[in-house]
Amino acid sequence: MDGEMSFFMDTQVVRIDPDNLDHGALKRAGALIKAGGLVVFPTETVYGLGANGLDAGAVKRIFKAKGRPSDNPLILHISRAEDLDRLVAEVPTTASMLMERFWPGPLTLVLKKSPLVPDAVTAGLDTVAVRMPSHPVAMNMIYYAGVPVAAPSANISGKPSPTRTSHVVYDLMGRVDMIIDGGDVDVGLESTVAEVTGGGVIILRPGGITLEQIGEVAGEVFIDPAISNNNAMDIPRSPGMKYTHYSPDAEVIVIDGILDRVVIRIQQMAEELESQGKMVGIMATDQTRALYKRGTVISVGDRERPRTIAANLFAVLREFDGIGVDVILAESMDQSGVGLAVMNRLLKSAGYNIVRA
Ligand code: AMP
Ligand code: MG
Repeated sequence: MDGEMSFFMDTQVVRIDPDNLDHGALKRAGALIKAGGLVVFPTETVYGLGANGLDAGAVKRIFKAKGRPSDNPLILHISRAEDLDRLVAEVPTTASMLMERFWPGPLTLVLKKSPLVPDAVTAGLDTVAVRMPSHPVAMNMIYYAGVPVAAPSANISGKPSPTRTSHVVYDLMGRVDMIIDGGDVDVGLESTVAEVTGGGVIILRPGGITLEQIGEVAGEVFIDPAISNNNAMDIPRSPGMKYTHYSPDAEVIVIDGILDRVVIRIQQMAEELESQGKMVGIMATDQTRALYKRGTVISVGDRERPRTIAANLFAVLREFDGIGVDVILAESMDQSGVGLAVMNRLLKSAGYNIVRA
């Protein structure tokens, strides 16, 4: 299961209905993980690429299958809160309160690690990131594995994270032992990553659990300035946040400003790009899609319900690649609530290429 041959692997694709669990299949997936194999599984955030988080060899195979830089640490996934204890040196009171409120769910806590956690997982840091997912397939598979499951998003490094089984098959067929098809995911963006090591809470990556929700429990919350500034030059505290991410093959440009002006500007840009012979995709919203007369227009969701935008963002970026557009012109979104995470991912996919309308 190692060496160069691993990229010509026989990948089993197994359908498991989240509403009618096949426990036999889940036990087989868990056993495969425990034995050092790679299993792609659905979570409520995005699809994950899992391996035994206590087996350094298995963890290294994750990095190889994804082409992920080895200095980008992984999240350990557990199925019961008590499984946290042996992975960390201490659990600050604030961390317990956050777990109580948001686990299982899309919140990852960064805590001081215990010696049990291999360096391959943490990229040599003295902290470890841990999450308890709420998806029934993820939860049961991790339970049957009997070990913490190290899992980044199940995409080739740098590409948009997978939110549908077809995305995983496209990226990782032949590179992993098993793919569990559990249908479309729910949140559509990766978990919120919060460091809780000193007294306070620092958001290292915005996600499905919002800043506002964490504030209700923890009181004061800090955001890593590299996120709040939306600036490519800041060095983030979370190693993974410094890499190019979520990039489709097409160039992405975000158009920011008052919505009416954004629409006009996108029309002008589309016209100009098409006159240069470029194929243009427009990432619109339900409120604006009918206003565009050029390019291939896809609505990413409803501005009144930002969670629909989160759920569709990565799938729409991949859809534009499937169509073969050269440039994606994307409307900017409101940054409150889950919008902070949406704009963080969108700006990264654009390499911070922003045009002011
Ligand atoms: P992924 O699982 O691909 O969504 O990436 C996991 C994210 O968690 C990356 O942005 C990592 O940098 C971050 N992460 C994992 N472990 C740590 C840690 N110990 N300290 C800070 N960030 C971490
Ligand atoms: Mg990822």
